[in-house]
Formats: sequence, C-alpha cells, structure tokens
Amino acid sequence: MPRPITATIKASALARNLGVVRERASRSRVWAVVKANAYGHGLVAAARSLEAADGYAMLDFEEAIRLRLQGVKKPILLLEGFFKPQDVALLAEYDLTPVVHNIEQIEILEKTPLARPIDAYLKVNSGMNRLGFTVDNVRIGWNALQNHAQIRSVTLMTHFADADGPSGVAGQLEWFDSMTQPMQGPRSLANSAALLRFPETHADWVRPGIMLYGCSPFADESAEDLGLEPVMTLKTEIIALQNLQAGERIGYGFGFEAKEEMTIGVVACGYADGYPRTAPSGTPVLVNGERTGTVGRVSMDMICVDITSLPEAYIGTPVTMWGEGLSADEVAAAAGTLSYELLCGLAARVPVVEVP
Ligand SMILES: *Cc1c(COP(=O)(O)O)cnc(C)c1O
Repeated sequence: MPRPITATIKASALARNLGVVRERASRSRVWAVVKANAYGHGLVAAARSLEAADGYAMLDFEEAIRLRLQGVKKPILLLEGFFKPQDVALLAEYDLTPVVHNIEQIEILEKTPLARPIDAYLKVNSGMNRLGFTVDNVRIGWNALQNHAQIRSVTLMTHFADADGPSGVAGQLEWFDSMTQPMQGPRSLANSAALLRFPETHADWVRPGIMLYGCSPFADESAEDLGLEPVMTLKTEIIALQNLQAGERIGYGFGFEAKEEMTIGVVACGYADGYPRTAPSGTPVLVNGERTGTVGRVSMDMICVDITSLPEAYIGTPVTMWGEGLSADEVAAAAGTLSYELLCGLAARVPVVEVP
C-alpha cells in the first residue's frame, strides 16, 4: 500500500464556486484563473470542472498548449504574455491571448510575423508597479497594438495591489480610468477580492482565482461566509501512537513539551507533502472529523497531533490537514501564510483524486 496521504479535488465545488462568481459579477465574462496547475488542483481536470467559464487565464505556454491539446476551444489568456521572439509563433498556432505589458514585447511583435490574427490585452500599471505600461508609454503600446494588422482586438487591463486590504481599489481605479479614458475597448480589472468587494471593478471580464478554489481572499471574511466551498481536501491517516508523560518532549528540536500526560498521533504528512513547516504547535487539524491541534515541529514526512481527548483514534484513523471541515485559510493563517501558498504548494508526490 502507498502512504495513506491523498488530496481529493471536488469537481462539483469548483463548478459551484464559479456559480458564486456568476452571481456576484453577472454582467461580466469570466476568465477562470488556472495558473500554477490550477492553484495546485490539477490543470486539465480543473479546467473541465470550470467549463462554464468564458476562458482560462494562466502563465505558462506549456500549460496553455496542454489545454489546447485536450481540445479546449475557449479563449486562453497568458497573464505575463510572451517572453521571447520564438513564442510569437506559438501565440498564432494555438490562438493564445497575450497580455502585453512592456515596450520590449511590442518590439518583438513588430519584428516577428504573426501567422494568424490573435486578440491581445494591454496591461496598464495603475500603481502596483509590477507589470504594465505607465502614463508615459501607454499610448505607444495602445497605438502599436491597434495598428498591428494581425491583432483582432485589444482589451485594457490592470491589476490591484490591495483589493483585499486597507487601501482598496479607489486610487488605482481612478488612475486606470484616467490613463485609459481616450481608449475604446473592453476592460478587465478584478481579481477575486475586487470582484467580491468592489462591484465598480467588474467591467467586461473578471479574473477570479482563489475564490474558485473555495478560499477567501480576505483575512477578515471567511470562505464560508462568502458562500464558497472548499475544493481541495488534504487527507491522511495516523500511522503511529505515542504516550507522553508530563515533561517528555517530542519531535525535532524537542519542539514541544507535554505539560501533562498526553496521547499523540503520528500522522503521514510533512513539509515534503506541502504542509507548511512554519505551522506552530496548536495549528488546527481534524482527526476523525474532530478538531484538535498539531504538536511540535513539522518534519519532512510526518507531523504529530494531540489525540488525548480522542480515545477512539488509532492507527488508520483519518486526518484532514485542510479542506472540507477545516478551511485552508485557517491553517494558512496559523502558519503565517495564505491559502494560495498552501494550495499551490501541494507536493507532486501527493496523489490527487478527483471526486464528484
Ligand atoms: C493570479 C491573478 C489573478 C487571480 O487572483 P486571485 O486573487 O487568486 O483571485 C487575477 N489577475 C492576475 C493578473 C493574476 O495574476
């Protein structure tokens, strides 16, 4: 038998979370963001479960081409566009929509023939200062794409730095509107946080990622409150039991000391499976559906959990590290990170099982 760890991916939850997107942004078309192997959920299966989306957004040519070879006909948006002149041939061959975000890409497009017409996105830097044209050169980018014989349509796009935080979107939205005011064309602005909190950002295309996977983009509002269902559940089992007397310690660095007699379950899940090593003692975990906490340091392949109050727990008892019944958001918060990182960080060695 293999190690008892698996990640189940609930296809119906993906579809239902897309339904929440549709309710919230009913007038916009939807790019389902499936970058990073669909946030760790498995690209091809996730795309299938999200087939009601209007298109798929990602970064890698390899992933985009994989979807095309699976028969996906919907638009595919490449969020970082293309990188090298030789990528241009792939844009035409696979009908991919690149985000064009700098002058260097414009130069490549002007020098490299495009065999067939494609759509393009023009990314405007409205303040995040990561990708995008600034007020100084946005006109150059816009004109170049408008005048390119093989570019069918140009959509204006920006990305928010703090739609989930105290700054919100107002400043960036205003700057984006003023920079793009003379330009006619569809617009795409909202990630999950903007989609949920700022309807004024919905525009023509929204770009939800994390909410499709049933997690919340907000520290102060849970996925459940937002009507989202977890998609990935990381499940494993107890593989050994230990009894600790008061004063005995456990794990690397003797990172936890029992204050009284305790029963510990040793669980087959460690940082090599993608569980965060930063999770401290007391990070929530479900043993047979009951909430308890981790004890001691996370090791590569194992973690210890307190089962003192769960006398029926034994070798083979199921353990949920995150997912159904225990939000990845909550585990991530305990470990000082975000659900995004937990989901994307699911290790390749963990078998992924799709469930309806
Ligand atoms: C990742 C990404 C998104 C989706 O963000 P979420 O916070 O997961 O909804 C949207 N737009 C761009 C440009 C992205 O890179």
